[in-house]
Amino acid sequence: MTHVIQIALPVPLPRLFDYDSPTLPVVGARVRVPFGNRQLVGVCLGESTQPDDSYVRKPIVEVLDQESLWSPPVWRLLNWAAGYYHHALGDVIQNALPVLLRQGERASYQATTRYQVTAAGKAEALEPLKRAPQQQRLLAALQKEALLSRDIRTQEFSPSALNALQDKGWVEAVEHIPAAVQSWQLKIAAEPLQLNPEQALAVAAIGAAKKAQTYLLEGITGSGKTEVYLQAMADVLRRGQQVLVLVPEIGLTPQTVRRFKQRFDVPVVMLHSALTDRERLDAWLDARAGSAAIIIGTRSAIFTPCKALGMIIVDEEHDSSLKQQEGFRYHARDLAVMRGHEEKVPVILGSATPSLETLNNALQKRYAHLTLTMRAGAAKPARHVLLDIKNTQLKAGLSKPLLDLMGEHLKAGQQVLLFLNRRGYAPALMCHECGWLAQCRRCDAYYTVHQGQRQLQCHHCGSQQTLPRQCHDCGSTQLIGRGVGTEQLEQVLQQQFPEYPVLRIDRDSTRRKGALSQHLDDARDNKYPILVGTQMLAKGHHFPEVTLAALLDVDGALYSADFRAAERLGQLFTQVAGRAGRASKPGTVVLQTHHPEHELVQDLVNNGYSHFAKSALQERHLTQLPPFSQQALFRAEANNAATVIEALQAIANLFPPRDDAFVLGPLPAVMERRAGRYRYQLLVQTQQRGLRAQLLRYVLPQLESLPILRKVRWSLDIDPQDF
Ligand code: ADP
Ligand code: ZN
Ligand code: ZN
Repeated sequence: MTHVIQIALPVPLPRLFDYDSPTLPVVGARVRVPFGNRQLVGVCLGESTQPDDSYVRKPIVEVLDQESLWSPPVWRLLNWAAGYYHHALGDVIQNALPVLLRQGERASYQATTRYQVTAAGKAEALEPLKRAPQQQRLLAALQKEALLSRDIRTQEFSPSALNALQDKGWVEAVEHIPAAVQSWQLKIAAEPLQLNPEQALAVAAIGAAKKAQTYLLEGITGSGKTEVYLQAMADVLRRGQQVLVLVPEIGLTPQTVRRFKQRFDVPVVMLHSALTDRERLDAWLDARAGSAAIIIGTRSAIFTPCKALGMIIVDEEHDSSLKQQEGFRYHARDLAVMRGHEEKVPVILGSATPSLETLNNALQKRYAHLTLTMRAGAAKPARHVLLDIKNTQLKAGLSKPLLDLMGEHLKAGQQVLLFLNRRGYAPALMCHECGWLAQCRRCDAYYTVHQGQRQLQCHHCGSQQTLPRQCHDCGSTQLIGRGVGTEQLEQVLQQQFPEYPVLRIDRDSTRRKGALSQHLDDARDNKYPILVGTQMLAKGHHFPEVTLAALLDVDGALYSADFRAAERLGQLFTQVAGRAGRASKPGTVVLQTHHPEHELVQDLVNNGYSHFAKSALQERHLTQLPPFSQQALFRAEANNAATVIEALQAIANLFPPRDDAFVLGPLPAVMERRAGRYRYQLLVQTQQRGLRAQLLRYVLPQLESLPILRKVRWSLDIDPQDF
């Protein structure tokens, strides 16, 4: 007998496909099917209830799995996400799978390499390796336990150190095939800290969880959120259940993982970008089989099936990297909350600077609100200083009082951190004689000057050219950088404070593999008294010797058209402030601004993030902006502006006029032209979530019949974060 089965395929079409099959594969199993003149790997959704007989059905080629790839809760999550984001299920599934499984590889282990100490290596003392710290660290780790090749990578051991130890005959490589299921039992490797009362309250509340409760753990930087995670996890692990931890950035992961490993003697897997596809699949299989106790990863890890999940933790829940900005535009924090419901397990959202969405959910009592208001250990909160730079002379963006302050801290042997969110030497190149500015030909943007590479670069389309010698308008050779970027700041600081080495951390200085973690280590070890950097430097890192942190130029956010700019500034200021004075020395954080009287600035500096965020929420309420309304954004682009406008207008016309929903646009994107393409958008906003879904379900199926949409590239973003 032939079954007609419904398949979700990795194609961007919002529909499912029917195929013939002699057997009935289980729901959630992969199948290989012919599609056009190629073969695709799709996922079986079961028997088709209304087979589409308008075309000749083809038979499937091969059933790849005997069982569903996902646990039922994750399978329900994927289906829910496809509905919520109005995104093709096939593409949702594609995003949720390790690359090798997308390609049709079997969902089973293959041999991998395991490194272990030889008898000689076991007997070897570590002390003589003092001169080779990388080898010393690796040998110490291997003397404790054998490591897989993926552990070598995720724990950032150096490959050359590994070679050296093998050459010495202290370490050997053996072929290793992981068992399908490895069992583990919790052993506490390091003593937990004595909790302060706030921490104890938080851990107790989480421990008493009704099964699917979501918690906002709002704790100022250094208040010991991680310790709360660790102690809350201990109970879960003790029961033999797994913990899934989402972290914003892979650069931060080694530190977090080290802390988890130090505390718990259980298998930890990391879904890390440094892994090979095979290693990633192995980690995924470990999670699915229950062999991994703790699973740590960035946003896509939220789709990892777990045999016995007991808790989900989203660290830095406000972080923008949790939202995917292309293709399937999901928010991993929101999916984490949904997954918690599906799995009936507690979800902890941790942050010093919670997003207004999450804060609102906590204030509305949808989430339990746990707060840590004091720094753990000896550290005191940083002192806030507002520097009015109106009508003052700046040196590479630095005011005199700030330079003086820096001098004091440096003289005292302390570290200083300067935040400037603009990489390159200068954000524009200008002719000193006629005012000409070098503009990217393909974007509505100026070129950034990169002095080191003697280049102009467009940070929006990536185009670059050698630094011109002459003005394109008047021929003058008097070309100067306008404004300040991190590269220039580094140079000027080096001249200003010649005896204190400067370390710059931005995308340019960390391009080389391993450079970021090396830089962060050097920063932490106070090898550089002066740290200069972009966003990268502001996040989560622990630099014990930093006592002064300053934000140089963030005024743009005060008058931005983006309604989230204020929230982001509040988060940035607080995160940067959190870098100062984390250890025993008191810290100072400086905000240079032309608008010291600005309400937001005053609120932030005088009352702190928590107060500031509540006022910002009130303002969102008054203006009916998210989270007090529901948005969806259509974006479209093409080489011709008129076509884009026409396309979005055609979409807009499909929305029935209503009082409780509005459709705004087509409006130009903030950067109307990028890489030669014109970009416009259409904003849909409703009061109720249900209405948004209903309207989109009505409009989206009609888009296939709009020929104009074939002339543009368009996408739909639910709960857009960027405009
Ligand atoms: P957060 O994650 O909130 O920024 P951490 O968990 O990193 O804070 O804690 C900051 C520092 O305080 C760490 O060095 C940590 O070991 C220490 N710490 C945390 N809780 C305690 C405690 N109860 N007693 C002593 N030190 C603590
Ligand atoms: Zn000129
Ligand atoms: Zn450009």
